[in-house]
Amino acid sequence: METKAFQAESKKLLDMMIHSIYTHKEIFLRELISNASDAIDKLYFRSLTDDSVGLNKEDFFIRLDLNKTERTITITDNGIGMTGEELEQHLGTIADSGSLKFKADNQLGEDQQIIGQFGVGFYSAFMVSKRVTVYSRAFGTEQAHKWQSEGVEGYSIEETGDFSDLTKFGTKIVLELMDDSEDENYSEFLEDYRIQHLVKRYSDYIRFPIQMEMSHRKLREGTTDEYDLEVTLETLNSQVPLWRKNQNELTPDDYHNFYQEKFNDYMPPIAYKHVHNEGAISYDALLYIPSKAPFDYYTREYEKGLQLYTNGVLIMEKCADLLPDYYSFVKGLVDSEDLSLNISREMLQHDRQLKLIARSIEKTIHNDLIKMQKNEREKYEKFFDAFGTQIKYGVCSDYGMHKEDLQDLLLFWSSHEDKLVTLDEYVSRMPEEQKEIYYAAGSSIAQIKALPQTEAVLAKGYEILWFTIPVDEFAAKNLMTFKDKAFKSVTAADLDLNTEEEKKALDEKTEENKSLFETMQKALNGKVQRVTLSSRLKSHPVCLTSEGDLTLEMEKTLNAMPTPEESKVQARLVLELNPDHPVFAKLTALEDQEKIEKYAKLLYNQALLMENMPIADPAEFSSLICELM
Ligand code: ADP
Repeated sequence: METKAFQAESKKLLDMMIHSIYTHKEIFLRELISNASDAIDKLYFRSLTDDSVGLNKEDFFIRLDLNKTERTITITDNGIGMTGEELEQHLGTIADSGSLKFKADNQLGEDQQIIGQFGVGFYSAFMVSKRVTVYSRAFGTEQAHKWQSEGVEGYSIEETGDFSDLTKFGTKIVLELMDDSEDENYSEFLEDYRIQHLVKRYSDYIRFPIQMEMSHRKLREGTTDEYDLEVTLETLNSQVPLWRKNQNELTPDDYHNFYQEKFNDYMPPIAYKHVHNEGAISYDALLYIPSKAPFDYYTREYEKGLQLYTNGVLIMEKCADLLPDYYSFVKGLVDSEDLSLNISREMLQHDRQLKLIARSIEKTIHNDLIKMQKNEREKYEKFFDAFGTQIKYGVCSDYGMHKEDLQDLLLFWSSHEDKLVTLDEYVSRMPEEQKEIYYAAGSSIAQIKALPQTEAVLAKGYEILWFTIPVDEFAAKNLMTFKDKAFKSVTAADLDLNTEEEKKALDEKTEENKSLFETMQKALNGKVQRVTLSSRLKSHPVCLTSEGDLTLEMEKTLNAMPTPEESKVQARLVLELNPDHPVFAKLTALEDQEKIEKYAKLLYNQALLMENMPIADPAEFSSLICELM
């Protein structure tokens, strides 16, 4: 029979599985059971509206069979099954395996990480098997197929007859276990108590019975020390979904295991919440925050949403309407009796119950985040490190509509002990005479700290927020104020730190040097609005500030986006000089117009460099320096 090659990416994954150093080989079982359960879910869902299925809930089963002589584990389900084409499509390729490609291209991480990131799925069977055979017949079709593979070399597909005594349609998977070696004991998976334990541990909540023949020793009648082996078919799982169980009966481990299995994360979540809501709307929910942002989180590919169940039946894998974008990192599920089973996606969007549930969930997430911020600060900072940027985007989205809800969740770096602070912490530390919340934006804390404009503010004893990512400043612009205090960039031209006298003295000095400044401004050819004196500078001779809403940092961010040349924005800049700096004394002593112009260009470029902005003509700048030297 013809052997077909696996699609290249599948082959890579398979290879990784087989040679994996992955320690949790036992998870193959939960993966296969989970697939079986999904397949039954599909058929069960159909049976609710389609009488031709002819099965009731209690007719569905997942069956495990162990055979020590053959060294096989067989997993049979009477779910929806697969056609020949589907076998080929689902098991011969990893469709949509963008994640694998990403991983392979970037050579990231270890096997463990790679495997964990996208759900090992069916291929995990190859971690323990030397050969895997899948028999399947899709519900409603006449022909069954047999798929077989021994690993990376490829697979074969052929038609086959009846494949099981237990069911006519559905799927039967036969694993031929690898031989035991010095390091690995595969035979343990042939022990019924071991399998029973694994099912309890990973698959207890599966809503359909997982059955297996268990042998027990039974005292032979009339004897005191002779036993018979009695074999009975037992259901190994409790079938109560985790979210329907009483919280008191569950351990953090239960919640973590469930999360890791269901959402394919190799790390436990940073936080979880079990909600039983009763009243106007009743629903159960399990909400999780992953400990790390998925690699595709900040891309378009990432899909937000919670699983949606009604009465324990999965009706939607990712219900996006249950989560606002700014909480898109939350994983989990919602189960409500109040939703109709036959509701279509379009209808669902307008469903009043669903809206109420979404609102209630949003509140829960918000309150729990605030609680974490107050009581478990370190954890919260870790969370914020992973997902805080998304919340900051949330402040900016929908014209700032959500800012009231989100502002208390924000953290920013701050000059106060170089820590992350909340806005409330900042404001509560403000000295009485301080009117505004100061921030400085740049690409790194080190670069921001070196900005000449921060000196005067810090010298006053005021705290400065370090805005290290572009969205920080946009979030501040959207917030406008926090507790009635306006946000103010330390690079704003109208930064007002002076007393009346200081202002007057500065104004006079500016007036005295009016013609010098005009010459300089002309020399800069429209690049700055004006040249003026500043009291904000201490050790530096010069800096750039901006008038109006747009700062230099924002200009940088906005123009870095793919916008056409004509819609590039430009901050309205002011070149400020330090009147107490020797350079200024030098300037005022200059008579030669041409020299003044050259100095102007030099100082302007110097100020740009301090802002980490590119200078337009580095060659000219360099030759100007040489000339002066
Ligand atoms: P995933 O389950 O994450 O989609 P898998 O590699 O585990 O990935 O499975 C690939 C696909 O093969 C499944 O999505 C499903 O369509 C199909 N499949 C696997 N096992 C079964 C089964 N027991 N019954 C029906 N279809 C199955």
